[in-house]
Amino acid sequence: MPQNSPKRLLILASKLGYQTRYFAAAAQKLSVEVIFASDRCHQLEDPWGDHAIPVHFDRPQEAALEIAKAIHDKPPDAVLALGDRATATAAYVAKALVLEHNSPAVVEACRSKLRQREIFSATGLPVPAFFSFSVGELPEMVASRVQFPCVVKPLSLSASQGVIRANNVQEFSAAVKRIRHLLQSPELQVTRVPSLDRLLVEGYIPGKEVALEGLLDQGNLRTLAIFDKPDPLDGPFFEETIYVTPSRLPLEMQQKIEQTAQDAVRALGLIHGPVHAEFRIREEDPENRPWILEVAPRPIGGLCSRALRFGPVKKDAGEEFIWLEELLVRHALGLAEVNLHRESAASGVFMIPVPQSGVFEKVDGLDEASATPGITELYITARIHDYIAAWPEGASYLGFIFARGDDPAGVEASLRAAHGRLRFHLSERLPVEHPALSQTKEWHSRN
Ligand code: ADP
Repeated sequence: MPQNSPKRLLILASKLGYQTRYFAAAAQKLSVEVIFASDRCHQLEDPWGDHAIPVHFDRPQEAALEIAKAIHDKPPDAVLALGDRATATAAYVAKALVLEHNSPAVVEACRSKLRQREIFSATGLPVPAFFSFSVGELPEMVASRVQFPCVVKPLSLSASQGVIRANNVQEFSAAVKRIRHLLQSPELQVTRVPSLDRLLVEGYIPGKEVALEGLLDQGNLRTLAIFDKPDPLDGPFFEETIYVTPSRLPLEMQQKIEQTAQDAVRALGLIHGPVHAEFRIREEDPENRPWILEVAPRPIGGLCSRALRFGPVKKDAGEEFIWLEELLVRHALGLAEVNLHRESAASGVFMIPVPQSGVFEKVDGLDEASATPGITELYITARIHDYIAAWPEGASYLGFIFARGDDPAGVEASLRAAHGRLRFHLSERLPVEHPALSQTKEWHSRN
């Protein structure tokens, strides 16, 4: 890359937190200039000092125009969206700047769980029976059309927020009322997420769940990793915990998952960039197929990208691994070293769920947890003195624990042992201190 013309990367993210910082650091390592756009805050003037362009991701066309105007004198060479909310804006911006991109209409379709279900079912891909209804309808009336057990969910939220399993009419009515209450909360109303007035209900798929991380090039999907989720996700709420790769599923099943992911992106019309997809291996399916939960045109969320390293590659001083963030920045900008395989070690992450809603007072046991054999990194991402909601109202984890080892079973054991050493204190009282005054605490052990 000539020194006088550094490449530029536009990063779109709702949260300019840890995940965004790792992507920015990966870009800076490659001498790439980073421009941020975010919808996190419109009241304060550049509160984080990163000159992020303030936009509303839920008005993607408008947001794209504003971004294009703001950066007309320094056009980026690529656009990366972190998190579901930024994906449509990213597609519109990339289109406007004539950069490689997914069709904005396709990306907008991916934002709707209902639209995805319609597309997959029309293509004959394995998805449960589903229908949508208005939050204003009487749940007892809707229930007559539901086959139990079912899962009821909002159309456009992420991270399992508002997703509830119901086994009968009473549970279904209670779930609908609870989700309605969540959707009507000021916190969600202010986001202007589309379709907050509709819900999706679908058959519950029993079985093991997996996630696939992939990268699309001209419509061809390359699998970067398949993660097993060894904790049962039986509901009624679906906060995640452990992800471990490589998968312990039979190779034949892993190939089916890859093929279904390829079929799913083709059905949607996605052609470029990172893909995160989730599947369930349905227990009673005679064809033993992976059923599609969702496909998103973005990388794995939260800090989970820290679980994926590629290479090693030879450097002057020896060897070095390339983290997922760097691989994606390289891919977006058309740089070399994007075809690396994941490292040979097993790797995993424990997303620490919120045991009960409350004010996060403190956490004990960090040193013991960090010292657990196999643990490579531990982050507490929740802020002390902040109120933090448990699922299904919540959507943020308390933190992330990472482990690496020779085999997936060992990594899983390390993660469980480390998590078992942490004791979170959440109190029911309301925060006394203003959240803006509370501090972010971060613990970091060896890498
Ligand atoms: P989000 O995009 O918010 O994560 P999903 O629709 O992917 O929402 O659902 C979140 C989680 O809820 C899934 O990972 C899965 O564990 C569970 N889930 C959702 N739909 C179903 C279903 N039909 N059957 C079984 N589990 C489901």
